[in-house]
Amino acid sequence: MSPSPIWHPFTQHGLGEPIPLVTRAEGAALYTSDGRRIVDAISSWWVTTHGHSHPRIVAAIREQAEVLDQIIFAGWTHEPAEAVARGLCERMPAELSRVFFSDSGSTSVEVALKMALGYWRAHDPKRHRILVLEHGYHGDTIGAMSVGARGVFNRAYEPLLFDVGTVPFPVAGQEQDTLDALEHACADGAAAFIVEPLVLGAGGMHFYAPAVLREMRAICARYGVLFIADEVMTGWGRTGTLLACDQADIVPDILCLSKGLTGGAIPLAVTMATEPIFEAHYGSDRARMFFHSSSYTANPIACAAARANLAIWDEEPVQERIASLAARQQVRLDRLATHPRVHGARRIGTIAALEVGGGEGYLSAVAPRLLAHFRERDLLLRPLGNTVYVMPPYCIEDADLDRVYGAIEEACDCI
Ligand code: PMP
Repeated sequence: MSPSPIWHPFTQHGLGEPIPLVTRAEGAALYTSDGRRIVDAISSWWVTTHGHSHPRIVAAIREQAEVLDQIIFAGWTHEPAEAVARGLCERMPAELSRVFFSDSGSTSVEVALKMALGYWRAHDPKRHRILVLEHGYHGDTIGAMSVGARGVFNRAYEPLLFDVGTVPFPVAGQEQDTLDALEHACADGAAAFIVEPLVLGAGGMHFYAPAVLREMRAICARYGVLFIADEVMTGWGRTGTLLACDQADIVPDILCLSKGLTGGAIPLAVTMATEPIFEAHYGSDRARMFFHSSSYTANPIACAAARANLAIWDEEPVQERIASLAARQQVRLDRLATHPRVHGARRIGTIAALEVGGGEGYLSAVAPRLLAHFRERDLLLRPLGNTVYVMPPYCIEDADLDRVYGAIEEACDCI
């Protein structure tokens, strides 16, 4: 066979690492063309919540594809989108009364930033500065990169990235520094503050306390700075509650959701906003409308999958599965935490993380060795530098979880 022409994301093809061909997936398992069963310990980049190829989501996709596959969404609508929007409004905080569809986490963030700027264009055009949290990650499009941490990922694109105000990460014990810096930046008249609530994912699985999130929200409210919660990763139960914001008992002005919105089966995203943000774009002036769209906005097949996801949340014991996975991860993490090479063992909800050896960055020399170690053991784990994290589908079974933690322990011994 001729070599594949595919250029893979976040892959250095020059290293010649094997790229397995996956033919089937079910629950927490992936099956490859050479007959291996791989445990998906990171939910295929954090998307798969109820397990791969959940029968209800598969059926919904199949049925919808036969009826209405795609329709322009500017000026048209369809029942799956209406049902998802209504379902989201029932489940999410009542203040978030408007639902804007897009296709990925990154686009949901771009939409959030544009909504914030649109709001300020109507109220005070001088306010356009965006505040961000150190180590944040919000996607790989230009705007999303601009509000994320600068580093090796985006050095080449730096000239295209817009300037932001960065607030230090709330390191345990030094939270007041973060709050003071945020207060200072807000007092200068920022437009919005974007955060990953409770967990900074791609930046290294850094956790911080709900009380800090609550304080940050309160500071923004005091200065009228719009608070954007990027729950693309943390939403849909990942941190133990439907939203991470729920643990701090806060409501953002703008909320980004994707990944688990369809149970992880098919791309879809929403940006939810409060009424004043919608109203800033409302009127008879066509120049004020919200200028954002993509070809597949609110694709009916994706919306049907999202509707099935909402039904699963209603009718299956999802919260119990999340609580069980959290407890089962904790037992194994506690065991591992006593290993002399394990540092910073931590867990929130279904996400467990730890560092192997000393602190190093994303390009740590340990990372490729860890990756190979897990690959050889038929495990899908993708460390961030020397940070190993486990974020499986909620249905993962004990035997698979044991394999995952056994391999991490072995890695600590031999890498
Ligand atoms: N925001 C956060 C918090 C994320 O974790 C991610 C993806 N990992 C994104 C945005 C971007 O989502 P996508 O890859 O779907 O564009």
